[in-house]
Amino acid sequence: MPVQKKIAITALVPPELIYACGDETFDVNNVIPESKKYPRNKLCAWTAIWQEMLSKREINIDSLIVVAGGDCHNALVDGQKVAMSGIPTHFFFYPFDGSAEYLESQLLKLRDFLGGIKSPEKPGEIRELKDLGLEIDKKRAQGKLSSSDAFRILISFSDLAGDLDKFRETISSVRETDIEINNRIALIGVPPIYHDFHDVSQSLGLHVVFDELPYEFIRHSGTDIHQIARDYCNYTFARPLDFRIKFLQKELQKRKVDGVVHYTQFACHHMLEDDIMRSNLDYPMLTIQGDLPGNTPEQIKLRLEAFREALERS
Ligand code: SF4
Repeated sequence: MPVQKKIAITALVPPELIYACGDETFDVNNVIPESKKYPRNKLCAWTAIWQEMLSKREINIDSLIVVAGGDCHNALVDGQKVAMSGIPTHFFFYPFDGSAEYLESQLLKLRDFLGGIKSPEKPGEIRELKDLGLEIDKKRAQGKLSSSDAFRILISFSDLAGDLDKFRETISSVRETDIEINNRIALIGVPPIYHDFHDVSQSLGLHVVFDELPYEFIRHSGTDIHQIARDYCNYTFARPLDFRIKFLQKELQKRKVDGVVHYTQFACHHMLEDDIMRSNLDYPMLTIQGDLPGNTPEQIKLRLEAFREALERS
């Protein structure tokens, strides 16, 4: 039986293809909110922390796939540092114009880097799991699941926790509840670097009914490279802002949100999008910024509380 390799990713890379190549996917971002690391040389803490952990071999992986085009330029540089430390590294590019043909050519290069398709049935299994993810997303918006339970599952769809069978068990272990939702919140931007953010928001009366990036993890799929390219070419974070905003307008309306929290990360280019989001999304909006991982800081809690009060007054 061929050896399963651990393939790290720095942002969304179709896990369907990695599993189809017989390997396990590992999203390096998923360990960061719980990390106690304070990197010495950093802009964005997300990329700086994984760069340091990988270069110092604090996490064991076989290869790294860096999303270099269409997502994060800090990752492009920090990914090259990891490559220079000797880890086999592949740079993956999304098309800004949404060209499915271009994305297909990128997926074919990635397939070759991974050594070819060995488990063609895996994308179909992932499709079934993503259908369960869409159910979780829907139940959370109906108040049948807590924001944090739903977020914990949805954020793991980038790598399916490295094991499809265990992940299926994790999904089925989530218990339904009955939450009275007073303030329906959309959380847009990159996910908060604070591990307790959803719990904190919930305790302050803000129920997150939409997590922008994790929703991208569950809504794209495909059972072969041709289909995967035609679906993932609409990954909003890699497309022009007007494309992403149109998608957000539709989702926010569908979920009847009362307000939007825009999370931004220190030294991330997505911060520059804040004024465009504010002028195009017609909802009360709170912008917060994080830097290092850990608990949600008191100052942000106070701002969330003031935002809830403002929503309740309006
Ligand atoms: S927060 Fe911004 S800079 Fe940091 S990894 Fe994400 S996209 Fe890149």
